[in-house]
Amino acid sequence: MEETKLKKTIAIIGGGASAMMLACSLDSTKYSIALYEKNKALGRKFLVAGDGGLNITHSENKDLFIERYRNAAFIKPFLNHFSNTDFIHWLQSIGIETFVGSSKRVFPVKGIKPIQVLKAIEKKMTQNKVSLFYNHEWTGWKENNLLFQKGGQTIEVKPDITVFALGGASWKVTGSHGNWLDVFAQKGIATVPFSPSNCAFKVDWKSEFIQEHHGKALKNASFRCDQKIQKGEATITQFGIEGSGVYPLSDNIRNQLIDNQKAVIYVDFKLELSENELIHILKNDPKLSVKDVLLKRIKLTKTQYDLIKSYTTKEEYLSPQFVANCIKYFPIEITGLGEIDEAISTTGGIDLTAVTSHLECKHATSVFCIGEMLDWDAPTGGYLLQACFSMGNYLASYLNQK
Ligand SMILES: Cc1cc2nc3c(=O)[nH]c(=O)nc-3n(C[C@H](O)[C@H](O)[C@H](O)COP(=O)(O)OP(=O)(O)OC[C@H]3O[C@@H](n4cnc5c(N)ncnc54)[C@H](O)[C@@H]3O)c2cc1C
Repeated sequence: MEETKLKKTIAIIGGGASAMMLACSLDSTKYSIALYEKNKALGRKFLVAGDGGLNITHSENKDLFIERYRNAAFIKPFLNHFSNTDFIHWLQSIGIETFVGSSKRVFPVKGIKPIQVLKAIEKKMTQNKVSLFYNHEWTGWKENNLLFQKGGQTIEVKPDITVFALGGASWKVTGSHGNWLDVFAQKGIATVPFSPSNCAFKVDWKSEFIQEHHGKALKNASFRCDQKIQKGEATITQFGIEGSGVYPLSDNIRNQLIDNQKAVIYVDFKLELSENELIHILKNDPKLSVKDVLLKRIKLTKTQYDLIKSYTTKEEYLSPQFVANCIKYFPIEITGLGEIDEAISTTGGIDLTAVTSHLECKHATSVFCIGEMLDWDAPTGGYLLQACFSMGNYLASYLNQK
């Protein structure tokens, strides 16, 4: 009893990746830790991220790793403090072994399901004496007290330290709805409107092309927007295009859309052949039809072939130079972003200028923000979860030293 009185109280609001790491890593001899979550369970988005394989981090080296982030300078200290290697060791320490996949992405070893990873993290939180308050939705402040709604009741809490970890604004079903933006703005904490990222991009495909090819993937290609180039694949959908090849271009596409109401990405269908080599092949076999050269000699897929065929005039199609150029730099016009609720991540939230380098709100002392609710972003590949876990671990170390 005496010990509890001497401890400072910390309220963590939100029960996702960043919050759970913070709660596991705070010094419970120094702090009385309470975590408030609006859902009746923790880590709903963490589990959604695990559908089809929980890509928890990436194995590439520190320098490359950091380059993946928008606002990399902001994220760097947290990754330096708690890197992908540190995270892999930490997971090992709670009984979760990982492996590096062929794409260098890191996953829990086969047989370990996302729910088991979540349970292992929850066990660590219990060992760290974290008090969990489910079905508690934070709704705002009354002066400096936190207000929660629980089953029609308003509850007031006055912790010494508050840490918000409310997530972004996609996949609302997981609890991360982003409705809190105005509440922060009213407190004088600068915010940025949410926008979808790692999302589908709208393309107005020709109807005869999309009827046959929706659901088909453009594989082993590279995708470029401005100077940003990404190797990978993308799926053609009725709405447009999505996938690991185009997600990393989100920022460039968004900026072009803001400036011009449209964006253009260029696809290289044949990474292993230069434009001159393609021209040579196209000219070399006059007895074969262009179609046969493209499908049999150059080995384009039917989808790549039909894409080129349906977007070229007859004259262009018969020009080896033009067709070779199409294979190396096929332009796809993007006319919009997909639904925010279906995006893997969001940009926007708390403006990075609103927090100190220790993640404390400049306009609200002892109030911190971590995770996706801050305005940074990264492509899929494990970078999002890594940054969330890194911020949680960093903030715990900072508060433990205070
Ligand atoms: C489909 C999908 C696939 C993904 N795949 C990957 C992947 O493979 N690799 C990767 O690295 N990342 C992936 N991500 C992204 C990753 O899951 C998120 O970036 C990460 O979970 C964000 O963690 P967070 O702690 O910031 O917030 P969240 O995990 O979103 O947690 C926020 C929590 O706050 C709670 N909350 C919100 N408002 C309130 C309130 N007012 N009161 C109380 N509680 C509140 C929410 O209920 C939620 O539990 C994926 C995301 C999606 C949607």
